[in-house]
Amino acid sequence: MKKILEVKNLEVSFDTYAGEVQAVRDVSFDLYEGETLAIVGESGSGKSVTAKSLIRLNPEPPARYKAGEILLHGENILDKKEKEMQKIRGSKIGMIFQDPMTSLNPTMTVGKQIMEALMKHQKVAKSEARKVALEMLRMVQIPNPEKRFDEYPHQFSGGMRQRVMIAIALVCNPQILIADEPTTALDVTIQAQILDLMKNLQEKIKTSIILITHDLGVVAHSAQRIIVMYGGKIVESGTTDQIFYKSRHPYTWGLLNSVPRLDIHKEDGRLDSIEGTPPDLFAPPQGCPFADRCEYAMEICRKKMPPQFETGENHHSACWLNHEFAPKVENPTQIAKKLQKEEVQMREQ
Ligand code: SF4
Repeated sequence: MKKILEVKNLEVSFDTYAGEVQAVRDVSFDLYEGETLAIVGESGSGKSVTAKSLIRLNPEPPARYKAGEILLHGENILDKKEKEMQKIRGSKIGMIFQDPMTSLNPTMTVGKQIMEALMKHQKVAKSEARKVALEMLRMVQIPNPEKRFDEYPHQFSGGMRQRVMIAIALVCNPQILIADEPTTALDVTIQAQILDLMKNLQEKIKTSIILITHDLGVVAHSAQRIIVMYGGKIVESGTTDQIFYKSRHPYTWGLLNSVPRLDIHKEDGRLDSIEGTPPDLFAPPQGCPFADRCEYAMEICRKKMPPQFETGENHHSACWLNHEFAPKVENPTQIAKKLQKEEVQMREQ
């Protein structure tokens, strides 16, 4: 697969009255043509700041790109002037946000908003733009698109508004679509519909998707690769199967344990949560950012930042447990699964 975006050693800080918030620290990853890459982590992990950096949507100041490169087809986004960025936003990289109500213009019909996005980036006549906008509404499965074209965002349900946002983001056929928590404000059935819609559209128009979410459950059927972020750093990355079934990082194990699963029965019926709070990014720890919340933390964890250990083909984990001399610890989710399987087998004998 062809690489279309390369993020290299990205460092983003916010200068505030209270000091410097080191929101993104030494983040590197690639995006390939036609793939869906999920960036997962809890609030404050740096995932949204990383995503917004890709189209320079973090307000500067207070945001400051301290180091690194974001290469789109070899050109560094961080060197671009605002005018150049305006051309890239929408035409090469589209973005959809969590809450479509605050992203859509409440005073303009949805049809006009789609037309406006198209006419801003491409020289098309009004009549042609209307035709394309109607086609987009059809493509995102808005029922009765001719009628809904002239309606306002408040006349649409939450799920329908998110479909309109997808139509606006995709109308110029961007090579990359960044979806920042696109389903968080929606109920579960609508969530699934929106994710399916994005998947179908991706197959049709071959856009690469970067899906930002705090919920690993959301990405299970949508993403081919997953990056797990914590404390402004990438703590684990790999294919969806590697992250779900062969994870080598205790933070990922915590995230996996907090996803409701049909294959693991818990006696008390409760989901696990990760105790404690994320690290203070005004003064990030010198060692592993997860050390204060990690039940496996060792002396070295607090002293030295773990490197990205290669734990499989294109699978990396920044955890000292992967060092050859570290104690052998297994993902508790996998242990629970094994025990349950053994129990079922014993009962059947
Ligand atoms: Fe836990 Fe240490 Fe691994 Fe960090 S490096 S996740 S503290 S075991």
